Amino acid sequence: MMNVALNSLHARDITYQLHPYTNARRHEEVGPIIIDRGEGVYVYDDSGKQYIEAMAGLWSVAVGFGEKRLVDAAARQMAKLPYYHTFSGKAHEPSILLAERLVKMAPNGLSRVFFTNSGSEANDTVVKMVWYYNNAIGKPEKKKFISRISGYHGITIASGSLTGLPINQRGFDLPLPMMKHVGCPHHYRWSEPGETEEAFADRLAAELEAKILEEGPETVAAFIGEPVMGAGGVLVPPATYWEKVQEVCRRYDVLVVADEVINGFGRTGTKFACERFNIKPDILVISKQLTSSYQPLAAILFSDKIYQGIADQSAEIGSFGHGFTTSGHPVATAVAMENLDIIEERGLMENAAIVGEVLQAELRRFADHPLVGEVRGVGLIAAVELVADKATKAKFDPFGKVGAKFFQQGHEHGLIIRAIGDTIAFCPPLIITEEQIREVVSRFARTLKDIEDFVA
Ligand code: PLP
Repeated sequence: MMNVALNSLHARDITYQLHPYTNARRHEEVGPIIIDRGEGVYVYDDSGKQYIEAMAGLWSVAVGFGEKRLVDAAARQMAKLPYYHTFSGKAHEPSILLAERLVKMAPNGLSRVFFTNSGSEANDTVVKMVWYYNNAIGKPEKKKFISRISGYHGITIASGSLTGLPINQRGFDLPLPMMKHVGCPHHYRWSEPGETEEAFADRLAAELEAKILEEGPETVAAFIGEPVMGAGGVLVPPATYWEKVQEVCRRYDVLVVADEVINGFGRTGTKFACERFNIKPDILVISKQLTSSYQPLAAILFSDKIYQGIADQSAEIGSFGHGFTTSGHPVATAVAMENLDIIEERGLMENAAIVGEVLQAELRRFADHPLVGEVRGVGLIAAVELVADKATKAKFDPFGKVGAKFFQQGHEHGLIIRAIGDTIAFCPPLIITEEQIREVVSRFARTLKDIEDFVA
């Protein structure tokens, strides 16, 4: 007879699944935390323990968990038309309405939309679209992409090459040779002693220009960046950075791609972070908060200039030979429409700006703590970087040990954060209240107390 424990969900998870972003050998020993249900900013595991979800899942559940309106929107669409594709000229109402709505919301007059299922697929699609476009306009040499060290753009072959994090490339034979990386716009770690934010931004723009010249401007197609970097550690760019790098891109006919997969829909306190940082992208990538991740969906918004090149090429070749079975999926796009209605009706982007100030101020109260190197963030995205030595900014040895402990110990206090190395990241649902922010911070403080003992 099978032992009940061996047949538990825990045991079966260990037996059958390979988890993303998990040390598989360690997982065999410790097993999963099984999240069973969610409500608002809280999730509950299978033992009924409550956690405050200070990461909104994976930076994404804007409207919180258990939002019935999204369930109903999905059910309505499932009942009417559960699936149809958008290949060979077919269309359906939800994807048409969403495309129109996104264009009306978009910065810089971006006028066309292409749908994918995930941010990674979207960035792979961006690479292919830019290559196709440059072939169409007679610039077949112009194929290289430049991104930043610590940037995150996904994990598929092209997007994982744009990503500038070793964990996504080591062991995978990435990056592809046409993907180049420049310095990370993180003043605390990357600036020279005494360098102002503006001077640091000048240096990064000069580095980008030197990289374009070294590669040959006729070979560099695009520069891609997250306005505020997320998975690389919540890195807010230094003042004037985006103005300066865009100026360099324009000088060398290099397209600007803004990856707002995390930033979009109010996360940084404005609708798109492009507005906050004065970015005028040729291409914008969005996902996550678009559906609050209740359904997989991402979108690429792009300029008419790019559309015209692609349209000509598709006529010449006979078809734009790219797309996914579920591109613009009717249930996903219907859920996105309802999710955007909720965000607008409840003023959640405005809420992010208001309660975001509270989150930023509350976390900055830890700036003098001996283990805290830097507190940073904007709107409802923030991070606290823990260091071994505050004066020298020395990292813990081994790097990431303290972050991993914090992550585990947070669970004991009913707190879900993300540990990025030894940096603790926060990105709560946009529905969070001021009181709930104080609860996040008090659970953070209790966890930090445990960490003091751990490193002592
Ligand atoms: N781009 C950014 C900025 C992201 O943060 C992510 C995911 O975290 C992606 C792209 C990749 O999205 P996905 O995980 O849906 O493939």
